[in-house]
Amino acid sequence: MDRERSIAYFSMEIGLETGMPTYAGGLGVLAGDTVRSAADLKVPMAAVTLLHRKGYFYQKIDPNGVQKEEPEEWVVEDFLHETKARASVNIEGRTVQLRAWRYDVVGMSGFKVPVYFLDADLPENTEADRTFTHFLYGGDLRYRICQEVILGIGGVKMLRSLGHHNIKRFHMNEGHAAFLTVELLEEHLRRDPKNTIDAHAIEEVRKHCVFTTHTPVPAGHDQFPMSLVEKVLGRQPALEMKEVFYSDHTLNMTNLALNLSHYVNGVAKKHGEISREMFPAYTIDSITNGVHVATWTSKPFQELFDRFIAGWREDNFSLRYALGIPKADVWKAHSETKHELMQYVNHETNTGMDTDVLTLGFARRAAAYKRADLLFHDIERLQKLASKRTPIQVIYAGKAHPQDQAGKDLIRKIYQAGDALKGNIKIAYLQNYDMELGRMITAGVDLWLNTPEPPLEASGTSGMKAALNGVPSLSILDGWWIEGHVEGVTGWAIGETDDGEGKNRDRAKDAKSLYDKLEKIVIPMFYRHRDRFIGIMLHSIALNGSFFNTQRMMQQYVLRAYFH
Ligand SMILES: *Cc1c(COP(=O)(O)O)cnc(C)c1O
Repeated sequence: MDRERSIAYFSMEIGLETGMPTYAGGLGVLAGDTVRSAADLKVPMAAVTLLHRKGYFYQKIDPNGVQKEEPEEWVVEDFLHETKARASVNIEGRTVQLRAWRYDVVGMSGFKVPVYFLDADLPENTEADRTFTHFLYGGDLRYRICQEVILGIGGVKMLRSLGHHNIKRFHMNEGHAAFLTVELLEEHLRRDPKNTIDAHAIEEVRKHCVFTTHTPVPAGHDQFPMSLVEKVLGRQPALEMKEVFYSDHTLNMTNLALNLSHYVNGVAKKHGEISREMFPAYTIDSITNGVHVATWTSKPFQELFDRFIAGWREDNFSLRYALGIPKADVWKAHSETKHELMQYVNHETNTGMDTDVLTLGFARRAAAYKRADLLFHDIERLQKLASKRTPIQVIYAGKAHPQDQAGKDLIRKIYQAGDALKGNIKIAYLQNYDMELGRMITAGVDLWLNTPEPPLEASGTSGMKAALNGVPSLSILDGWWIEGHVEGVTGWAIGETDDGEGKNRDRAKDAKSLYDKLEKIVIPMFYRHRDRFIGIMLHSIALNGSFFNTQRMMQQYVLRAYFH
């Protein structure tokens, strides 16, 4: 059965369970949801990633808002089982042996998609080489390229060693895996001594490769100097066609993936446009991201859907019938999820959060472009709009990459704002954001706040999780929200689409729009027109939950990229 896998999905990070710290953020959570939906739909897929034995990191935040990172040890054997398969890659002239650990993602009807975790921590390898699969996004440029060699080249070799010889599509989830194309070229050379690396060889490989790009800025793409590539990989015959691999003596992993894929897509319509502008020489489609519905719907809403929408798990489109659910039942389910969140927040932070108070949520990686501090742009105005009769409270969570000073500063700023607003607006920052926390926060707040600087949020998925639980978004029009937003129906926009991008974006104007929407629309509706507010909740589920899911997304990959 395993030999019949025809789709191989490669991702540097995959989020499968909270206890497995094998993901850092949205890219990994998307990969996990993708595999879950593939299993539900019986897509014959096998996935490949790295083990990340020391995880990403465990986040602690001191009372001043300073983030501290600790290694995140986990017991691999508790989650994965070791396969007998072995493979090896050449790194800097040494042979690095790899093993694969297996995790089966089981779909709704029992179909399994195996996920293989590559592990270099074997006694045959040198002490230093054993660490290559330890830290997700840790180390320097050399460490990174070695990891990518293991993922791409080691991944293909491991699949072969596991008996997967009939793979028709190699799907690169972001450019990290693009070295897989080098191994496919090497296979082409090995297949027949007469074969060379020429246009025909490139075409052969392209037929089998699919690439999803996630990064809307050139600086976000992995690049390695040619000297480093040659030092790590040696003289690889496949790399001889320099014009395919290098420009300006640099190997750009995105360009490599673009050059060697027959199908390329961005992760939302807008992101597709941005990618086409960035890479005008290529045909780039878009398939908008989604989330795995059964994973991100809270228990109370699962029970609600079970009562009112038969077969919603099997057919996510049927969530459109949510409009028929009685409002009182929706509010009851929401109150349960909110109560659970409030208990957790109060237990963790002692902020005295109140279930009756309009609660805003903001949980995502603490990266500068997400502007977690936009809400505090004008503290006085914010204080004024939250009166005694119409209070608000805000729940934050998110990790900053250990080397991202700007991200860490953001966390400190939120702590400072919390102090400044004491007695007026309760602010809680939850430590160590992970999938479990994400599940609780997206389901338990009343309003999902999203403030990225356009066009940097390629898609964003946490607002989709919120929508499934009837939590509307108040969001900048970027990424998926351009598609999911119907003003006053599924939520509300902050600013306009033509308010400028990047450096030209007027932060003060965005902040003003945010305050206006809260003061004039959301707060009055929440407190005085609860019925209308619940109407918005129902439309979030019916219009957005039914569409922004990985079941619809996987079907699009199948039709456009996998079996085409
Ligand atoms: C959903 C999720 C993300 C991605 O959220 P964005 O809105 O895309 O930033 C990141 N981390 C965790 C733990 C998540 O659950």
